This record gives sequence, structure tokens and C-alpha cells, in this order.
Amino acid sequence: MVFGVRKISFYDTKPYDRIYFDELKEKHGYEIEYYEEKLTPRTAIFAKGSEAVIAFVNDDLSAKTLQILYENGVKLIAMRCAGYNNVDIKYAHGKMPVVRVPAYSPYAVAEHAMGMLLMLNRKLHKACYRVKEYNFSLNGLMGFDLYGKTVGIIGTGKIGRTFSNICNGFGMRVLGYDLYPAKDTGIEYVSLEEIYEKSDIISLHCPLTKDNYYMINKDTISSMKTGVYIINTSRGSLIDSEALMEALKNGKVGAAALDVYEEESDLFFEDNSDTIIQDDILARLISMPNVLVTSHQAFLTREALQNIAEVTLDNLDAYFAGEEMVNEVVQH
Ligand code: NAD
Repeated sequence: MVFGVRKISFYDTKPYDRIYFDELKEKHGYEIEYYEEKLTPRTAIFAKGSEAVIAFVNDDLSAKTLQILYENGVKLIAMRCAGYNNVDIKYAHGKMPVVRVPAYSPYAVAEHAMGMLLMLNRKLHKACYRVKEYNFSLNGLMGFDLYGKTVGIIGTGKIGRTFSNICNGFGMRVLGYDLYPAKDTGIEYVSLEEIYEKSDIISLHCPLTKDNYYMINKDTISSMKTGVYIINTSRGSLIDSEALMEALKNGKVGAAALDVYEEESDLFFEDNSDTIIQDDILARLISMPNVLVTSHQAFLTREALQNIAEVTLDNLDAYFAGEEMVNEVVQH
């Protein structure tokens, strides 16, 4: 359905973001102004004259930014992602509805989590470099069978369940913890304490909220098995990175796979290869042989990007047509 051409501002644009939005925008009747800059109080003014803003995970949608958008006529905030921890929902309430893409491909994220686990455990990152130098030694490359190991999944929503299915396929024992355990998954639900005590691998798949900030910290790490692997494809601030770094140094944590990092917003998605990274904790983590960091990449599949574009434009359509917005973020 076409509603006449409406102007939309799109922040933090990378070439891969544009592919599916460009394919679909005319059909939906939108003119999209793409900005490479992230949305911040400084760049919010770019959206003057736009009816909606499309934003992403590392944009700053604090009250200050939202106020500038609102005063300049923006009516709708469309997150092109699932998480909305970077949006001041309280401030937006009653001014600008916030919509999101609750599920675009749980497979993309869950498969990336498993990919990181396999890479770290079997040292594929090292093996790959060695062989390129014709170094065919196997010393230091020993991993362990995933079969029979216990994986603790924190947050058993769409991605957590998909990851659980993948782990089942590997013959692993899956323990789950969720504020709202699902009834139909076959996941063995236990307390958070049991997850920490019993898991060989812990994978985070819950959203970041004010209640679980730094849930992986010095204390919780001390209750984990020595040598535990920690995978985080959810949000960086679920982990106290300094505590993780110390635990990696002293061997309490065996390895960490991090697709997200608490201070990622100024670094991730950008080429910083010519700059000196000022974040000593991140630099140290990256330097460790048993740490794998990817740049918030877990979502990046063709299927996910196509779904993101379709659902985001459908969300805009619903708002402008005055229809029910099924993907509106509601404030509790
Ligand atoms: P979802 O809403 O389907 O599932 C989240 C689950 O977490 C729900 O079952 C919920 O009850 C549970 N939960 C909420 N608070 C919790 C807590 N404190 N402790 C334990 N469980 C809790 O969401 P999803 O689609 O599975 O996505 C999960 C998270 O993955 C998102 O919030 C987002 O942060 C992250 N994510 C990352 C990427 C990436 O590219 N790395 C992409 C998409 C999503």
C-alpha cells in the first residue's frame, strides 16, 4: 500500500544496510535520507523535515536526542533491531511511538554464537593462520568434545531456544534460565545459581535491563566452574568486562566469545585500524588467545537484513495508516 512519499531519516548507515531498504522503499512510498553518522544529540537535527527516524543498536536515543527529534517534527522512532535498551522509552511515551523488529532471524544470532564457540574451542582462528604460513603443527590446538557437555542458556526467547536446538543437535545437555520459562521447549529450567555452578559453557540471550546490568561479575564468576566458556551475543553491559578480563587472566574463565562489548558504541561497525584503541580492557581482551571478539556481527545474514527492511517498513506503514502497531515497544 502506498501512502504518498514520506521523508524518513536513517542513521548509522553502512552499505549492507541499504540493499534491502533501497529495494523496497519506493513500493512503500518512502524517501529515505541515509546518514553515516550515528544518531546523537548533535546529529538529531539532520532529521528536521523527516516524519520518522530509523535507528540502530549504537545510536543514542536518550531524552536529549528524542527531544530534538520531537521538536523538529519527527513522529515515529523505528528501531531496525530487536533491542531498545538505548532508547529512553519513558521520555518517548506519549510523544513518539517506538517500534522495533522483534524477530528477524534468531538463526543468524544463534548460529553465530555456535560458530564462535566452535572456533574458540577448536582453535580454528589459530589453525587458519598457522596453515597459511605452512605451519602444520598441532601443538596447542587441542579442544574438547561439545558432545555431553552442559550448556547454560540465560534467556530462552527466540534466539536462546534456537541456540538450544543447535546445542541439542551436538548432543549437549541444555540448562535454561529465564524470568518466564517456556513450557513447550523441553529445556531443563534451573535457577541462575545452578546455571553458574553446573555449566561448562554459558551463553547469554536475555535483553539488557536495569535489573541485569553486570549480571556476569566478580561474584557470579566465582560461582562458575573453573575453565567455563562464556558466550555473549546479547548486550555488552550484561558482563563486567574488567571482572571477565581478570578471570581470564587467572584461568577461572577458560575462554570468552564476545560479539558485543559494553563500550562498543564508539568502536564497533567502524574501521579503527589506523587509530590507537584507548580502551585498555578491550585491547587486552582482544590480545588474549582464548578470547574471540566480533564486531556485533551476529545479526549479519542476508535473510536477517531482508527481514529487518521488510518489518521496519511495515512498521512505518502501520503507523502512517493509523493501524495497530504490533511491534510497538510498550512501556511497563
Ligand atoms: P526474546 O525477547 O525472544 O527473548 C528474550 C528472553 O529473555 C525472554 O524469554 C525473556 O523472558 C528473557 N529475559 C528477560 N530478562 C531476563 C533476565 N533478566 N534473565 C533471564 N531471562 C530474561 O529476544 P531474542 O530475539 O531472543 O533476543 C535476545 C537478545 O539478543 C536481544 O535482547 C538482544 O539484546 C540480542 N540480540 C543481539 C544481536 C546481535 O547481532 N548480536 C541480534 C539480535 C538480538
